[in-house]
This record gives sequence, C-alpha cells and structure tokens, in this order.
Amino acid sequence: MKIVTSIKELQDEIKKQKKEGRVIGFVPTMGALHEGHLSLVQEARKQSDYIVVSIFVNPTQFNNPDDLKTYPRDLDRDVKMLKDLSVELIFTPTVKEMYPEEDKRQFDFGMLDKVMEGKFRPGHFNGVAQVVSKLFDQVKPDKAFFGEKDFQQLAIIRKLVKDLKMPVEVVGCSIVREPDGLAMSSRNQLLTPEMRKNAPLIAKTLFESLNFASGKTVKETVDQVVNTINGSGMLEVEYFEIVDGNTLQPVDKWDDSDYIVGCIAVFAGKVRLIDNVTYKYH
Ligand code: AMP
Repeated sequence: MKIVTSIKELQDEIKKQKKEGRVIGFVPTMGALHEGHLSLVQEARKQSDYIVVSIFVNPTQFNNPDDLKTYPRDLDRDVKMLKDLSVELIFTPTVKEMYPEEDKRQFDFGMLDKVMEGKFRPGHFNGVAQVVSKLFDQVKPDKAFFGEKDFQQLAIIRKLVKDLKMPVEVVGCSIVREPDGLAMSSRNQLLTPEMRKNAPLIAKTLFESLNFASGKTVKETVDQVVNTINGSGMLEVEYFEIVDGNTLQPVDKWDDSDYIVGCIAVFAGKVRLIDNVTYKYH
C-alpha cells in the first residue's frame, strides 16, 4: 500500500496503473473511518482493480468553524484499517496542496441544493463540489463510490459529473448501520454516552414510519417522525423532508412520485446526525 501526500506523486502512480489497463476505483473520505467507509472500499474491490482512498477533511465544505475544529481525525488508525483491506493507494493531501489559492468557483445545482442540507448548511455543497471536482481531476477514476447515507450529496455529485461531463461512473452504496440501527458516522464518536443511547431513536422512528405511512398523508407522516424524535427530549430535529428521490423536492402526496425518500437531520446536543429512509422505489 502506498501513502502519498502530493498531487504529483498521486498522478505518477495513477498514470502507471492506467498504462497497465487497471480500472481505478476511488473512495473519497474525510477519514475517522468506520464500517460505512469500508463498505465503499469493499464495493470498489468488486468493481475495480486499483483502489484509491482519499483522506482529507475539506475545510471549504464546513459552514461551521467549530464543526471543522472538532471533526474527528485519526490517520494512523485509518491507515491500518485500509491496509487490512489491501487498498492500493491512500491520498492524504494537506489543505495547501489542495487549495494553493482560494477556490472561487461557484457551482449551480439548480433546485438540488436549495433544500435540506443545502438550506441549513449554506455553501456546504459548493465546498463538496470544489473538492470532489479537484479530486476527480487528480485521480481520474473510472468509478467513484459514495454512500447513500449522504443522500443529497450523492444526487449533487451525480449532477456535477453530468454537468461537467466527467468520465467517471458514480456508484451509490447502501447505508451501513450499527447493530442498534444508528447510521454509522464519524461524528458518532463525538456523542456523549447519554446521547449515544438516545441516537438510535432516529433510525427506529424512520423505519417505523414506513409502516405508519400506509393510510396516512405525507404531512401526518412528517409530523409523526418529528414529534416522536423531539419527544425524546434529547434529540432535536433540524428538518425532516419527504422528497422525490431524483429532484429532492418535497412531495405532497404519496403518488406524486414513484421514488420517495425521507431525509432527516437531527441535533444530539451539538452533534449533527443525518439519515434517510426510502418509502417508495419504482
Ligand atoms: P465522509 O468521510 O463522512 O465524508 O464520508 C465518505 C463517504 O462515506 C461518503 O460517500 C459517505 O456517504 C460514505 N458514508 C459515510 N457513512 C456511511 C454509512 N454509514 N454507510 C455508507 N456510506 C457511508
């Protein structure tokens, strides 16, 4: 396994591999790896010959300086986990390497980033697009693997690739959960023991809402989810929206679309957790 920090070393290595005809699979991460990240690597192993994992806490996607400061980092542990999966290359650039000068690019995602995360984290997806477009340009992967946990991010990346006509196939991978249902996240390690005990209520409520929804309106379902989670007294819903899975725009009725997803962001103290559940898929 190679670990490189410069774009030049990265590109030299990739060029060699491409010359050998290897299919490059890419898994971008911000580190503090868990089984969710590893599932992307496992999917990349199935679909490609040479796996590149980037570990880079991208400052331009943090709209909250405290969140950036407290974001968990543990490179030694990450490296060990990736070594166990025989990942071929880890790219861990510095901020200066990725942003030698300020990135002033502004991306237009139409309505996709006007809702949910886009509404509550202004500039977040522009920062994601800045870093992902740079990484795609540097790694030139054949396939890139993203988790459906970040449902809106996946939609935005698909649009970015389409708009910029990037020759990369974006592969979405299912959410990996803790045994108690909590969606795995690097931020889970920031939860106090008490918050950690309460956090599984998010997934539990989402799953229960799948049954609740039959015979109920979209609005009744939204209210039920929000009230149940807020009712715990420990968790606070920032938003819960039931949306068209392609356009991400809220639906009023269950037959408004044949692809319907409920996306949620919840504060457990200062820690912000996201999750989603699919009500209808084609
Ligand atoms: P992050 O390090 O949080 O930026 O995440 C890197 C990638 O891992 C993104 O594509 C995430 O969607 C994905 N990911 C994070 N958590 C999970 C999870 N619990 N299940 C599946 N994928 C995940």
